[in-house]
Amino acid sequence: MNQKSAIPRDAAAVILLNHAGDKVLWAQRNPQLAFLGGYHAFPGGKLEASDQLVKIKNCTDAEELARFIVCAVREAFEEVGVLLVRGGERLTKGQRVSLHDDLISNRMTFAEILEHWNLWIDAADFFYTGFWTTPKFSSVRFKTRFFLAVCPPRQKPYAAISELQNVEFIRPINALNEWKNSKVLIAPPVLLSLKTLGEFSPQRRRDAEKDTKSSSNNDSQKTQQISSEFLLKNFASLRLCGEKLLENSQAADGHIHYMELNPRVVCFPLKTETLPPATHTNCFIIGRKKFVVVDAASTDESEQNALHALVDSFIEKGFACQAIITTHLHRDHTGGELILQKHLQAKFGLEIPIAAHRLTAESLAGKVEFQKFIAGGEAFELQDENGADFQLQTMHTPGHARGLLAFYDAEFGFLLSGDNVVGSGSVVIAPPEGNMKDYLNSLETMKNLPNLRFLCGSHGAAVSDAKGKIEGYIAHRLEREGQVLEAFENGAKTPREIVEQVYTDISPALYELAEKSVAAHLEKLYEEEIL
Ligand SMILES: [Zn+2]
Repeated sequence: MNQKSAIPRDAAAVILLNHAGDKVLWAQRNPQLAFLGGYHAFPGGKLEASDQLVKIKNCTDAEELARFIVCAVREAFEEVGVLLVRGGERLTKGQRVSLHDDLISNRMTFAEILEHWNLWIDAADFFYTGFWTTPKFSSVRFKTRFFLAVCPPRQKPYAAISELQNVEFIRPINALNEWKNSKVLIAPPVLLSLKTLGEFSPQRRRDAEKDTKSSSNNDSQKTQQISSEFLLKNFASLRLCGEKLLENSQAADGHIHYMELNPRVVCFPLKTETLPPATHTNCFIIGRKKFVVVDAASTDESEQNALHALVDSFIEKGFACQAIITTHLHRDHTGGELILQKHLQAKFGLEIPIAAHRLTAESLAGKVEFQKFIAGGEAFELQDENGADFQLQTMHTPGHARGLLAFYDAEFGFLLSGDNVVGSGSVVIAPPEGNMKDYLNSLETMKNLPNLRFLCGSHGAAVSDAKGKIEGYIAHRLEREGQVLEAFENGAKTPREIVEQVYTDISPALYELAEKSVAAHLEKLYEEEIL
């Protein structure tokens, strides 16, 4: 059942600074997009074959970064209307808009536009800051090369296509504060970049500039090629910032093993025997100085080692693990909790309780021994990195499994929805463990949580519109229920007959799972005396 991770596609993005160099451009991806919908990100996108047709000047790099620079420039023009080319100062805003229209409507290729208007890309205007690869749990993955560049004077970025909204220059520190207060979700490489940009405050840049003033004379020949006034003034410090970004990317070889969804929640996808298209189960570490681990699910040794290394680093900082929690009985959620418990016992002499709902503990009797039970309704008292207290509410949400637990940080409006609602794939409701009526009640309860903003399920990425996502799930199930009822009234009597009439959009390989869902719908309809 275990699927291979998707192969990353080549892509490029631009870390675009404003002319003063103190703000960076970010935008929110349209919440309707399948890939990181609603997340904040830098302009960028996937490499196109035509990108290698564009010739660029001053590119001596052996790594053949030229086509990625072209990709970043084209994407910046397509997405935010900024033309990062030489010779572009002759164009009026109206002309740029008209060229943008030519490009978007495929009247002209990017190469044709540049040639026709005598514009060219100069590699000296871009600083390569390394690449990042989308984590393996995602069904769509990119290997994205990032370039630092400065917005040309008199060009104002805007949402040039419907893929993006809320395009703005923002101080890195302010962007990070939005994230720290759980106001936004940030694409993982963008978060990493913002943290580094935030370290290079204007003051620090000025200091760096002073330090390197004498040696920067060596760069004078290079800087003279650069038209940007900002780059002329700040080349040394900008270079330091770019070098730090590159160093981070190289140190990690572009891999992102886990994601900080907000300063309280780490999502650590672990490879498990789960249902396609998912390949991983999200393990969550919630809290810092006081934390819990949810679904240390993997039975794979290397996956466990990676998770243990992160948990160990928390313990070594003096942070205290309160519990290791299993959300429910399914095999892609259990298996690693006992190993983590033993590991922490052996390495640090810690006795950390394993916790679950009593129904889960009963189902896993003989396999996992539980020391703590969670009924739902109680809260874990946790602490963030600064020692500030916060509560993690527990919720008993039966439906997918009788003992399924979900968790809610009401202050941050962040729901960890377990297998109730997932970022990728669908949720199986298979009686007798699954119950459709319970499931819909659980969805309703989650939908009505006060202050609900984001959610992250056990599979796939976090979701920016939690309420909308849950409403979509409810609507989908009710629509299916209507179709099942109609098929039944049309004479289809067995789950298989109903599946063949109703599930016309799935492959026959999935009929068995669909039959279970139909059985769950029929059970609910009987219970409600509709059938
Ligand atoms: Zn499950």
